Amino acid sequence: MTATIDPVQTLANPARGLVCRACGAAYPLAAQHACYACFGPVEVGYDADALRRVTREQIAAGPDNLWRYAGLLPAGHDPAARVTLNPGMTPLVRADQLAAAVGLRAPLWVKDDSANPTHSFKDRVVSVALTAARALGFTRYACASTGNLANSVAAHAARAGVPSVVFIPADLEAGKVVTTAVYGGDVVAVDGSYDDVNRLCGELVETDDFADTAFVNVNVRPYYAEGSRTLGYEVAEQLGWRLPSQVLLPMASGELLTKVDKAFSELVEIGLVEPPAGGWRVFGAQSAGCDPIATALHTGAGTITPVRPTGIAKSLNIGDPAAGPFALDAVRRTGGWMDSAHDEEIREGIRLLARTTGIFAETAGGVTVAVLRKLVAAGRLDRDAETVVFNTGEGLKTLDAVAETVGPTHRVRPSLRAARDAGLR
Ligand SMILES: *Cc1c(COP(=O)(O)O)cnc(C)c1O
Ligand SMILES: [Zn+2]
Repeated sequence: MTATIDPVQTLANPARGLVCRACGAAYPLAAQHACYACFGPVEVGYDADALRRVTREQIAAGPDNLWRYAGLLPAGHDPAARVTLNPGMTPLVRADQLAAAVGLRAPLWVKDDSANPTHSFKDRVVSVALTAARALGFTRYACASTGNLANSVAAHAARAGVPSVVFIPADLEAGKVVTTAVYGGDVVAVDGSYDDVNRLCGELVETDDFADTAFVNVNVRPYYAEGSRTLGYEVAEQLGWRLPSQVLLPMASGELLTKVDKAFSELVEIGLVEPPAGGWRVFGAQSAGCDPIATALHTGAGTITPVRPTGIAKSLNIGDPAAGPFALDAVRRTGGWMDSAHDEEIREGIRLLARTTGIFAETAGGVTVAVLRKLVAAGRLDRDAETVVFNTGEGLKTLDAVAETVGPTHRVRPSLRAARDAGLR
């Protein structure tokens, strides 16, 4: 695919090109994910003046979904040309009982992205990536997925009437396979880990057979990554155009964490928010079965050593995280920290969030809540600083994680007497 997006043709597009995250080399807005000079990852570069023209009023007048931030995104300026389920503007839930349970005294909020159309934050990245993919001329949609991404790509493709082929590890939860396959595209179960799946997709994308195919997190990855910024914008807008002092995010590739931090920086740079006194600090959560980024932070390593993932938090099981170095940088630069949680702690995290907020999270949410508790107890998170934690996925997709630990609290015959005898009064 040699097509490019011409920013001059789409006047509202603030994106000006792709920029290498390692050496700074510049490229047009094409389907390119690595730098030709140094093989480093590339990301979207913006025109600072174009970004600065976006106002709070413009955003408020936009639709009740992530496209209200189109003026800050590299795709989707023409509503008719979007490939989207219109995700975003998910609830920001005040979580006083959870705060009390973990020992936070300042306000705690849960940004609940399980409320997106396919029940995870991945709808954001997919809407932006596939809208760019359509503009670039791709006619088939694909991904390498740990589960939620496959759900979202298959659903977006179905809505757009475009064929899809998604690649997943063969041992994925049934709840993620069914909720992907139902949309009717091709679902390829690969006998291997996510990292094997990703490697295979990296090879397929280079072949002529897949020249018409946009792999959202491979050849159009720079656009995919930008969708995560909308989570940062929404938190700021929902807090009344303020930034929290602390944010805690789950990490797989580390991209989400990196881009939420970037979104906060941009909002300050373009004058839409004031930074909180003392700045904001970014915290990351992984599962103990796959914690290469947290390990690098704890050992002070300059590079990330890949691991072979294990454990129930499958949506986060990326052993060789592409954006890991950038996530490390964001956490070190802002004075945050990272930690990881074992499977038992993840299960308890899911139940604690459910009991205290009415939100039923998938395993990634359990990881985040378990790490929240640890970081408060260890004094890494300031008990007196306003905090936002991100729930990125839906508990119904990973029922097995808690199915054995919860169930009916009583069992009775259908009579008044039996109900009373069981202590129900
Ligand atoms: C993909 C995913 C993440 C993390 O995404 P990265 O950007 O790769 O770090 C977090 N939570 C859930 C539920 C996910 O599916
Ligand atoms: Zn480079």
